[in-house]
Amino acid sequence: MYNTWIAIGSNIKNPKIQADCAINALKNLPNTKILACSQYYNSKPLGTRNQPNFLNAVVKLYTNLLPRELLKKIKKIENNQGRQRNSIKWGPRSLDLDILLFENNIYKFSDLIIPHYDLYNRSFFLYPLMEISPNLIFPDGTTLAYRLSKITCKKLKLWKE
Ligand code: ATP
Ligand code: CA
Ligand code: CA
Repeated sequence: MYNTWIAIGSNIKNPKIQADCAINALKNLPNTKILACSQYYNSKPLGTRNQPNFLNAVVKLYTNLLPRELLKKIKKIENNQGRQRNSIKWGPRSLDLDILLFENNIYKFSDLIIPHYDLYNRSFFLYPLMEISPNLIFPDGTTLAYRLSKITCKKLKLWKE
C-alpha cells in the first residue's frame, strides 16, 4: 500500500458539490482509503483571469493502485463529472485532479510526472498539504515548510458557500 496526495480543483458547475463528489469517488476506488482531507480553499485562477475563482483542496490516500492506474482512474472521475477538454490552457473546469506526490518517489512517464511539475510554486497545493501533512519531506530532500517559506503568497482564503 502506498501514500499518495491528490489535488482537487474546480471553478464551474458548483465547485463545492464537485469537490464533495470527487472525494466520494476517490473513496470508492478499489483498495483505497482516504487518510486525510484538507479544507476547501479559494484561489485566483492561473492563466486567464476572466473566469471564476477556484476551489482547491488536497486529499491524502492510502492505496494499492500504482501511479498510472491511479492516473487512469482519476481521469475517469474527471470525465464522469463533466470535465471537458478544450484548447484553453488552465481554462475553467468542473473538476481537475492532479497527483501531487506518490510515496517519496519520482516518476517521469510521458503522460505522468510525479511530483507534479509545478508543486513548489503553487500556493493552492502547498497550503492544503501543510494542513494535512505538515511534516512532509519531498523527494528532493526539501521540506514542505521550506517550500512554503519560499513562495510570496502568504495566505489562502477558505472557500465560503
Ligand atoms: P497543470 O498540469 O499545469 O496543473 P492541467 O491540470 O490543467 O494543468 P490537464 O489538462 O488536466 O492539465 O492535464 C494534462 C495532462 O497532464 C494529463 O492528461 C496527464 O496525462 C498529464 N499529467 C502529467 N503529470 C500529471 C500528474 N502528476 N497528475 C495528473 N496529470 C498529470
Ligand atoms: Ca492542474
Ligand atoms: Ca490536471
